[in-house]
Amino acid sequence: MIPRVRGTRDFLDLKLMNFTLETIKKHLKKYHFHEIMTPLLEPVALFKRSLGIETDVVSKEMFVVSSSSVEKGDEEICLRPEATASVVRAFVENGIQTVPWKVFLCGQMFRYERPQKGRYREFFQCSLEIIGAPSLMHDVQIITMLDRLFRSVFRLEVYALHINFLGCPTDRIAFKEQLGTFLDAHSTALCATCLKRRTTNILRVLDCKNPDCQKLYTQAPQLTDCLCTQCTSEWKSVQHRLEELSVPFVHMPRLVRGLDYYNKTVFEFVSPLLGAQSTFCGGGRYDHLVAQIGGKEDQPSVGAAIGIDRLILMLETMQDLLPIPFDSALFVIIPLSEEQHPLALQVADTLIHNGLHTELLIDGSLKAMMRKADKYGAKAVILIGTDEQSTGTVTVKTLQTGAESKIKQTDLAQYLKQG
Ligand SMILES: [Zn+2]
Ligand SMILES: [Zn+2]
Repeated sequence: MIPRVRGTRDFLDLKLMNFTLETIKKHLKKYHFHEIMTPLLEPVALFKRSLGIETDVVSKEMFVVSSSSVEKGDEEICLRPEATASVVRAFVENGIQTVPWKVFLCGQMFRYERPQKGRYREFFQCSLEIIGAPSLMHDVQIITMLDRLFRSVFRLEVYALHINFLGCPTDRIAFKEQLGTFLDAHSTALCATCLKRRTTNILRVLDCKNPDCQKLYTQAPQLTDCLCTQCTSEWKSVQHRLEELSVPFVHMPRLVRGLDYYNKTVFEFVSPLLGAQSTFCGGGRYDHLVAQIGGKEDQPSVGAAIGIDRLILMLETMQDLLPIPFDSALFVIIPLSEEQHPLALQVADTLIHNGLHTELLIDGSLKAMMRKADKYGAKAVILIGTDEQSTGTVTVKTLQTGAESKIKQTDLAQYLKQG
């Protein structure tokens, strides 16, 4: 047997997955987002340019696709590690003129990471973006929309919303300088990763999982102390609007979200129920990505991604509380001998045409077929023998009660629909 690739899964029951995706899509459409789809394959250059060469995603987690038929000189292709860059590429490439462009896409992303609980190499995300949204009121609305989704629609209780404000590029230059001075003064206390990031991607030191580093960084300078006048007032306004809308949040001064393209608002929804991989939704503002990816003019934007796998981990424990639709009633047709096979096919065809969920059992003894119908949880079996065949009837046996009735073949669909 050749097993599946590490960090991937077979989904043998999609009930909760489909419910989750449908619920999210319905919620987003209420806010006038519309669904798009982009390829799973994208040029490596797209992510190098958007995420930054020094991010973990680009430097070590990318699935680069090699193909023997790719001709020399062809671009490097990868399986997309995230969707924001793809959506921005689609915006630029398709020459979208009407902004704000409010879109979402749901699907697989790929990252070569160590698989663990809630983390897979092939994982699912719903990514939502507003391209061409200069006002920070969009940030407030996206965050509120997500909080309403998790709290009111999915009825999640054990989670928190973490927010930080990264300011504009000028603010970050000032901050990086202050942080650099701080790190140099404590360089002997830093872990190896932080020492490396000090020179490659300094903001990311704040993400370090090492408890000693985290302890040290509680004394580090804070981004929100380096904001210019305009950013200061924008940051205040984001917080006030969220308070007015009763969206509870916690200011996390060290939240930076790791990717190069974010500025101003960044946020994460986290839950202790998820253990180490506690973030199940994250996002932020990216005001310069459109021009970076090749747009003629810049389009300030904001977006977020919901980690479907982690959200489902949380929903799994409370499935009984969720309005997951029941399976429709199943009817099982059993012809008693080979002579009735043609008639059974016709009866099945009529029932399915009438919208009824129908299984036709052919193989095995009557006893074995009855047992199978029971295992399927069928509502009733429809027995067709010589007697039924000659009188134009069928015998309907309700499995729960065992009650039997003879029904005319021409009335069967109507009869089953009413029952
Ligand atoms: Zn600023
Ligand atoms: Zn560290």
